[in-house]
Amino acid sequence: MEKQATKIHAALLASPGIGHLVPVLELGKRLVAQLDFQVTIFVVGAEASVLESQLQSFPNPNIFNVVSLPPVDISGLVDPNTSIVTKIIVMMRETIPSLRSEIFSLKLRPTVLIVDLFGTEALPLADEFNMLKYVLIASNAWFLAATIYFPTVDGKEEDEHMLQQKPLMISGCKPVRYEDTLEAFLDKNDELYAEYLRIGLEIPTADGILVNTWEDLEAETLASLRDDKLLGRVTRLPIYTIGPLVREMKSPDLESPVLNWLDKQPAESVIYVSFGSGGTLSAKQIAELAWGLELSKQRFIWVIRPPVENDVTAAYFSVGKESDGTPNYLPEGFLTRNSKLGLVIPDWAPQAEILRHPSVGGILSHCGWNSTTESIVNGVPMVAWPLYAEQKMNATMLTEDIGVAIRSKKLPCERTVERKEIEMLVRGVMVEKEGDKIRSRVKELKSSAEKALSRGGSSYNSLSRVAEDCEKSLQGLVEKAYGA
Ligand code: UDP
Repeated sequence: MEKQATKIHAALLASPGIGHLVPVLELGKRLVAQLDFQVTIFVVGAEASVLESQLQSFPNPNIFNVVSLPPVDISGLVDPNTSIVTKIIVMMRETIPSLRSEIFSLKLRPTVLIVDLFGTEALPLADEFNMLKYVLIASNAWFLAATIYFPTVDGKEEDEHMLQQKPLMISGCKPVRYEDTLEAFLDKNDELYAEYLRIGLEIPTADGILVNTWEDLEAETLASLRDDKLLGRVTRLPIYTIGPLVREMKSPDLESPVLNWLDKQPAESVIYVSFGSGGTLSAKQIAELAWGLELSKQRFIWVIRPPVENDVTAAYFSVGKESDGTPNYLPEGFLTRNSKLGLVIPDWAPQAEILRHPSVGGILSHCGWNSTTESIVNGVPMVAWPLYAEQKMNATMLTEDIGVAIRSKKLPCERTVERKEIEMLVRGVMVEKEGDKIRSRVKELKSSAEKALSRGGSSYNSLSRVAEDCEKSLQGLVEKAYGA
């Protein structure tokens, strides 16, 4: 019987949260555009409106099939006050049965399953269905290193980090200071600790790890992850650097008042202020930030959310669904006094388009990895203002290693940053001499990212190697089926 040429079908699983959805959609697009794969993306917990708004930025949203898995009710399974990450993990666990039946019902059985960090419990499905399995780390290689290394440390090392607050010494990589460490590594009695150890152990059970970074950005960490004498003894897997996974094309018809406003501003004169999809600030911090921006006398766009006390992740599951109208929690007269200099946008803004605009000259960011890569590919220097998850590690990497950001000496998530300091940081990145170095460094990295993504670049080639693996696996299955 004649063998048919079969298209490779990739199934991607995105965990809840826009910061997880964005890189998975972008990877899906690249698998289609560069490798001519058929792609099905399974999405957990994304409201139709949020999904739609993300897909709008794709030139052709029909290039892949998007399947929203049925919502799961986790209210009886977790304490309502538990961390966002624990909630995400439990949602992903509860979704596995419906993922299994969806994969089972697909006409063309996928050759490969790609899950993100919180989907590693679904990897055994790949074995059931004879698929290759990859984990997509939507963050950087240093975060991957910490995640897979931590479960391997002995009790003494663990106590030194968690109790004595010493840095976590990761073979061949920059140590993680205690104040930057992941929330999962803070308390052994929290369920997140056990969940994270499990994830760290499950990642190396895949056939490969795709990381949203590029070779030149994290050469040392990547070398360690691939060196059998260093972290390679834990990973034991091919590491494919395929980033930065950032939307490249401008949405053709995006009409937006904020972009129209930006069109009228001088080049590189506006600082964009945003805390990602979930970040929220206290009332006092919002007031100080407002005053700091005003004192800096710089043009600004500020994506603002109502104040929330003692929870920096409060908007995670509600963002992007509606705006709150004119904010009434800003200092009196702020909006009137700054009506010419700045824009305040409640809840959500077209960030990728804003950062691409030539009038933007800086970002004050929570250092989520998508916001970070979006800033770098547009050559936008940063004020780092980390809040939660791996953002503190990112802020340290951006200021100390990569040199594209400045930051406050103390962590903003642990105290209120005052207006004078904010004024200084904003002016530092936008107009002062100290900003020159980071402005030129970020432009260098912009070119290095473009090079990595272009044909023949390291990220382009990594993705081609994924295709080779899939082709080999598919070939093996076809030969088995035809008894070759
Ligand atoms: N984003 C956006 N508009 C906003 C806030 C965020 O488009 O007002 C997008 C942003 O461009 C990025 C993603 O949401 O692609 C946030 O991901 P990131 O990793 O930066 O942070 P997270 O939200 O996961 O903390």
